[in-house]
Amino acid sequence: MLNIILGGAPGSGKGTLSDIIVKNYGLQHLSTGDVLRAEIASGSKLGQEINDIISLGNLIPDAQMIQLLQNYIATLPADCKGVIFDGFPRTVEQAHALTQMLDEHNMDAYMLDLYAEEDVIIERLLNRGKIGGRADDNLETIKKRLRIYNETTRPISDYYLRRHKYFLINSNINPECTWSQMDVILKQLAQ
Ligand code: AMP
Repeated sequence: MLNIILGGAPGSGKGTLSDIIVKNYGLQHLSTGDVLRAEIASGSKLGQEINDIISLGNLIPDAQMIQLLQNYIATLPADCKGVIFDGFPRTVEQAHALTQMLDEHNMDAYMLDLYAEEDVIIERLLNRGKIGGRADDNLETIKKRLRIYNETTRPISDYYLRRHKYFLINSNINPECTWSQMDVILKQLAQ
């Protein structure tokens, strides 16, 4: 199985590139943000609690996210070619938990880390906010999400680098340019 952790700050292109990987490599796409937004849309009490956290730009507690991942991995079909983890892990604790979960299933994962400059990211997210209307795509929340990314999520890059399972991708230009770098790496990993 080819399991990919798509890293990078909010607005670095994870969703767009996930769609392209799915089309070209037939992997399953798990966006934890999408799963959480679906829970919010269901109108459940849990969804309301999640909404309070996401709309402030904060992270959902690790224990809740790790449980979500455990449930997801347990239901993967036997013929699954691999998974794109988009938005997970976001903390070192989540990274440890993912390694353990994958180990238990004799699986492995590589991180492809999308890097874009902060001004590029802010412009992309403000545009997405105008078009898609995501409640957390406003300047104040974007800045908070980027601060949390830098403090809490960025150290994950080192975690995978130290395990020799890390690739850094320039995602400043456009999706085509990002994809051409990723495709070369994915071709090697898929062999
Ligand atoms: P995303 O769609 O990946 O930008 O995620 C939107 C929001 O969902 C994030 O800003 C967090 O509040 C929450 N979220 C998504 N994935 C995680 C995770 N792995 N750990 C904690 N919170 C998460």
